[in-house]
Amino acid sequence: MSDNLYELLSSRFPDDPESPCFKLMDGGTVTYGQLTDRVGTLAGFLVAQGVLPGDRVALQVEKSPEAVMIYLATLMAGAVFLPLNSAYTASEVDYFLKDAEPRIFIQDAPGFVRDAGRAPPLAQAVPRNAADLASIIYTSGTTGRSKGAMLTHGNLASNALALHQAWGFSARDVLLHALPIFHVHGLFVALHCAFLSGAPMIWLPKFDDAQVLSGLAGATVMMGVPTFYTRLLANPAFTRDRAAHMRLFVCGSAPLLPSTFAEFQTRTGHTILERYGMSEAVIITTNPLEGERLAGSVGYPLPGVDLRIGGGAETGVIEIKGPSVFSAYWRMPEKTAEEFTADGYFITGDVGRRDPDGRVWISGRAKDLIISGGFNVYPKEIELILDEMDGVTESAVIGLPHPDFGEAVCAVVIGTGDEAAMIAACRTRLAAFKAPKRIYFVEDLPRNAMGKVQKNLLRQRYADAFLR
Ligand code: AMP
Repeated sequence: MSDNLYELLSSRFPDDPESPCFKLMDGGTVTYGQLTDRVGTLAGFLVAQGVLPGDRVALQVEKSPEAVMIYLATLMAGAVFLPLNSAYTASEVDYFLKDAEPRIFIQDAPGFVRDAGRAPPLAQAVPRNAADLASIIYTSGTTGRSKGAMLTHGNLASNALALHQAWGFSARDVLLHALPIFHVHGLFVALHCAFLSGAPMIWLPKFDDAQVLSGLAGATVMMGVPTFYTRLLANPAFTRDRAAHMRLFVCGSAPLLPSTFAEFQTRTGHTILERYGMSEAVIITTNPLEGERLAGSVGYPLPGVDLRIGGGAETGVIEIKGPSVFSAYWRMPEKTAEEFTADGYFITGDVGRRDPDGRVWISGRAKDLIISGGFNVYPKEIELILDEMDGVTESAVIGLPHPDFGEAVCAVVIGTGDEAAMIAACRTRLAAFKAPKRIYFVEDLPRNAMGKVQKNLLRQRYADAFLR
């Protein structure tokens, strides 16, 4: 066997070709046998189209089993998978295509699979080494140009094996898959755990709380972003009974509020397992399967991951080294050099700390750090206090340009309340420079597809609050 990730994944597919792989909402099924056949044909078709090892295969498509087949066929053919967020506009896609120069760009996955119909199948995966490129994932790029994180067969395989073990996956599992597959969470984390177990997936085209509720009855594991869990909790039909068949709820891609964690526990009896990851390294830390899962902590580094806090202080930027950490940003040697330390650690840009027990706690992104009157303010510290106040569902603390302080601490809050009283309450618990100068009340916060609050948009929205 070579290090081609498809060889590893397919070696774990069930012996019985009739075993279900995708269970679809319309009652249809795609079996593991059908998956293997179509992946072989598609890989043969890619090769016949002139796709060579290392060539990029880009796609911007709706979520479907066919899109997954194209992913696996790309790996099998030794090419490089480049998924693009289906929300990207034509001009954004244009940038990615010019930057990555794919051999093929697919916009209709079922159509592409039909076209491949009669191609002679590839009998064997194209041999790859662990250091060969498997995928490029463009980061969401809220500041500056999007960067393509280059992930190798070795990066993906090591992480998949570590997660499969850490989360106790087996052939008895059924994964409820409701995440998008243009992002590492739904694409690598979720799919690889199912494939390494030869387990079936209940396949939802997107998150829909009613569909998730009906899917839970036949599933054992669900992976989600925090908004999945808040939306489930907002549905009164989501009860302890509905979750009774489940073994594990995993959450990540954005911080899970301690209030959601607690409410979920009370409602269902399940403790959400929060983990931390990013495009550049897939999963980095996880709460334990056995042992205590703490609200607000992202748990311990996965085996083989070396995690440290840069800068020598207790709280600082998280730096990591390990088998899943990407090798470079696509065609950006200077950016790559800037984001690695001299001794080879990737500078994640997330600020956090480790407690004496070794658990990791994240307090936000370094670029969200507010410097007000020369003092550093970590938004999370203030958000935790606001989130506990009556009438507040969630808060986002940002720094806004201020003629005197440089930046002024402000809060945008989902909910209602008395601004002056809330600011006064913050002042009793925080140094005055940390207390918000202003609080805006909103119905919802802007989020990207993975549920991350887009603070850059909030900073734009209120940019001239103190400049008028
Ligand atoms: P992406 O590359 O789009 O997956 O974004 C990665 C970023 O998401 C990380 O650098 C973190 O800032 C954030 N993130 C992921 N998981 C968590 C988590 N469990 N808690 C807090 N932030 C998270």
